[in-house]
Amino acid sequence: MASTPIPPATDTSQKLFDRARSVIPGGVNSPVRAFQAVGGTPRFMASASGPWLTDADGNRYADLVCSWGPMILGHAHPAVVDAVRSAAVGGLSFGAPTEAELELAEEIISRVAPVEQVRLVNSGTEATMSAIRLARGITGRKVVVKFAGCYHGHVDALLAQAGSGVATLGLPTSPGVTGAQAADTVVLPYNDLDAVRAVFAERGSEIACVITEAAAGNMGAIAPVPGFNAGLREVCHAHGALLVVDEVMTGFRVSASGWHGLDGVAGDLYTFGKVMSGGLPAAAFGGSAAHMGHLAPAGPVYQAGTLSGNPVAVAAGLATLRAADDAVYAALDANAARLGDLVHRALEAEGVPHRVQFAGNLLSVFFTSDEVVDYAGAQAAQTWRFPAFFHAMLERGVYPPPSAYEAWFVSAAFTDETWEVIADALPAAARAAATAMAPAEAAQ
Ligand SMILES: *Cc1c(COP(=O)(O)O)cnc(C)c1O
Repeated sequence: MASTPIPPATDTSQKLFDRARSVIPGGVNSPVRAFQAVGGTPRFMASASGPWLTDADGNRYADLVCSWGPMILGHAHPAVVDAVRSAAVGGLSFGAPTEAELELAEEIISRVAPVEQVRLVNSGTEATMSAIRLARGITGRKVVVKFAGCYHGHVDALLAQAGSGVATLGLPTSPGVTGAQAADTVVLPYNDLDAVRAVFAERGSEIACVITEAAAGNMGAIAPVPGFNAGLREVCHAHGALLVVDEVMTGFRVSASGWHGLDGVAGDLYTFGKVMSGGLPAAAFGGSAAHMGHLAPAGPVYQAGTLSGNPVAVAAGLATLRAADDAVYAALDANAARLGDLVHRALEAEGVPHRVQFAGNLLSVFFTSDEVVDYAGAQAAQTWRFPAFFHAMLERGVYPPPSAYEAWFVSAAFTDETWEVIADALPAAARAAATAMAPAEAAQ
């Protein structure tokens, strides 16, 4: 069945990209979308339904990005679209509180035990930025510890050795971030509790918080080694610092209560985004009532938002979480396992060194035979195999993330046809990965 496909037409996407580059920096509103790490024409999307994306040239793709996580139910899920439609008809924004936003807060709190109160914001970046401010406000300290390869949005203090697009573009940090902001951030290797203990032994009284992805998903999928998250909590508490658990990616995806549902470790502050707003812009941060009580207007730490708790975004989030029942989470887990297995078999058949790694139902492919536990390991993999692998998939109607450093996301909406398209694409993609040339060979 697998045959050489006619390369899909990309004329319309190319024209749109050319036009976009004159009015939007790099032609995109978020860097990884530009395909810089894989080359070729970024596909401009026209619509999406269930497991499928359709681009501006009419090509259809099985979606393994799911808007970088939110679309666990698949695209344009009828219950979510209905909820959004009726919310919109009732008014787009009030700048005043609503019942729906407190229902979304209650839904989040009911799922994640350590969270007693949440504040809604508009993006994951805002959530982590605000959580850091709150941690500094509560402790009266300024140093933040983060891990190399973890991405917490484009917050100044958190861009040092960040994952996601910062890793994709190979940036150590970003111009525009001042020395002072960077100096208050300590970057340590992920999964290295000894390094955390060492820095606390030296600077423990200056450290406001440790921020960690609940499981790393922005340097590829790297689960915390057993005891890592619990150890972070212990070290933080021994020194009067807070543990900020970033569940923007894992929250409400890897289980009904996110990574917390898998490891049970209680963080002090949490950040959420992606799934909790069903594809519209909303996010949240939360924690115990005592900690959250430091926020204005209850307390002195300032934080605000014109559109925070937006009724349309809240409706999408509530409808998504309410539709995400046990069957949905079982389907996400099963689909991730099946996808990982298909990828593994295809690469194995071509003799390509690889590891398919999971962090719950997040997965990614590293072109190395060694287990990857940190950013150095992710960087040591043969990432040069990825562009050929990626484009072979894309040409055959499958849309993986356009970077070797991003996790792959499944939805619960995969059909038999989705699996056929994926299974047909993989052998050719594995061959392309096998015959890809290392940069040194290519230069000869
Ligand atoms: C996506 C992400 C963010 C940033 O969220 P935005 O909505 O893109 O600002 C923060 N933390 C993690 C772990 C993420 O995956």
